[in-house]
Amino acid sequence: MDDCIFCKIVKGEINSTRIYEDEDVVAFNDIHPIAPVHFLMVPKVHVESLAQCDDSHGRLLGKMLLLAPKLAAEQGLAGFRTMINTGHEGGQEVFHLHVHVFGGGTTLPTT
Ligand code: 5GP
Ligand code: ZN
Repeated sequence: MDDCIFCKIVKGEINSTRIYEDEDVVAFNDIHPIAPVHFLMVPKVHVESLAQCDDSHGRLLGKMLLLAPKLAAEQGLAGFRTMINTGHEGGQEVFHLHVHVFGGGTTLPTT
């Protein structure tokens, strides 16, 4: 996807603060954090949203969810919130599947 911000971040064409990368997934800090720690996990392959996923994405989705507590712990979080916004009505602004992970501070934002 030539005009996708997160594809460009995956390819290194847009700078980001990367905290993790493997053959399937990249994680980087959100540019507008809503908590002291706030990062996004994205698949390297372009998938628009959770609504476009099917059984073939099961391994990838499982991998990202299992990665969340590991990366959160590495970032110093004892607990965290995950969020996957799906579709305009779900608050999604970037149409490349991503899992928000955020935490730290005294109160957790809900959006
Ligand atoms: P959504 O609303 O689609 O779930 O969340 C998109 C997230 O991507 C937002 O939290 C926003 O701050 C973040 N974001 C948008 N553009 C960029 C960017 O260029 N770099 C980084 N690191 N984050 C971005
Ligand atoms: Zn993309």
